[in-house]
Amino acid sequence: MKTYTVSKLNEWNQCQLKYYSHHLEREFWESETTLENILGRLIHTFFKNFYAKSETTLQFKKGIITLDDWKNSFADKWQEEAAVIEIATAKDIAIKLDKGLLCLENFHKREQKRDFKLPLFTEKSFSVNIDGLFKIKGSIDRIDEELDGTITIIDYKITDYLKTAQQAQSDAQLAVYAYGCEQDILHRKVNKVGWFYPTKQLDVFNEPSTEAQSEILSALLEMDTAIENRGLNKNLYKYSPSTGFCDFCGYRSKCPEYTHEYWHEKENSNKDEIKEMVERAYKLNEQKKEIETELTELKNQIKSFMLENNVMNLENAKLQPQERGNYAPIGLWEIIRQLDNGHDFIDIKKLALKENLESFSLEEQKIINNSYTPKTIYSLTWKKLK
Ligand code: SF4
Repeated sequence: MKTYTVSKLNEWNQCQLKYYSHHLEREFWESETTLENILGRLIHTFFKNFYAKSETTLQFKKGIITLDDWKNSFADKWQEEAAVIEIATAKDIAIKLDKGLLCLENFHKREQKRDFKLPLFTEKSFSVNIDGLFKIKGSIDRIDEELDGTITIIDYKITDYLKTAQQAQSDAQLAVYAYGCEQDILHRKVNKVGWFYPTKQLDVFNEPSTEAQSEILSALLEMDTAIENRGLNKNLYKYSPSTGFCDFCGYRSKCPEYTHEYWHEKENSNKDEIKEMVERAYKLNEQKKEIETELTELKNQIKSFMLENNVMNLENAKLQPQERGNYAPIGLWEIIRQLDNGHDFIDIKKLALKENLESFSLEEQKIINNSYTPKTIYSLTWKKLK
């Protein structure tokens, strides 16, 4: 018979990737302790100890132990435990301490209203068989017997994200608690199940599901079959972020939803390198702009020079000396060719020819307008406007 715990079932229902990390591949993904984890554990311990001994509860009731005493002892314990988290800032530690103290205050108010009536059990373990297929184990935060003799199961929730009474009735974790309590702990009917939210001083309760056993069985079967089929293929375990649950997750740094929060260190270590590259790229870009401006000016100067000195027909060595002007066309062509085989400077000639288009025949004009190769352009002779 396979054994599961309530917390495993709960984790599965909340986030499969967390379940995978926590239970299937622990070596690879080691859980990190967070301030929220410590806070949750400490508050549960303080709530439990409040009712651990009847004489202690009596001291609370009589005011021998005051709320301030209780809060002070929590603050001492908190400072000691929170100091272990090296990356926690003083501000975070102080905020969480305030949250913890608020929880204690609200819990105390709630219990005062109940005249500090002792619960039947706190953090009570149970183990039940489900249809002879699974064994499920768990621990219930608190079981109360009300004044009218009815039984209430309470789960403490240290979160600000509230669920509804309707959700309490369909919640798999609460269903298992009710079933475990009825079958293994009290052997009495459970009348109410729900959550106490100490940060809000709020109780959310409902009657437990009447189909608890079959619902638990189908939830376990679904989880068990999925895990059997997927094995250790991490990609098949989807992650489901939910603010209330992720706050307590020790796998945030490995979770695709939160890895961006952990880029801080990497970013710092690469910062100088990227800064230097950007500065160099910026300088080169500025130089490129200056060069482009200078090149444009130079091309204009070359064009003017060629026009003024009648050396547009660089390739045509057959021209009469008076048509060549004062320059040796072949010699100049050799110079220009070296720049980039002449291609860049073809445009100069083409531009000049276009400006002078009306001095050419229609056929020549067509060649000038459609020419793509240096050859076609250079076969044409520059003509001075008549
Ligand atoms: S951080 Fe949230 S979404 Fe990511 S693994 Fe943990 S519980 Fe799942």
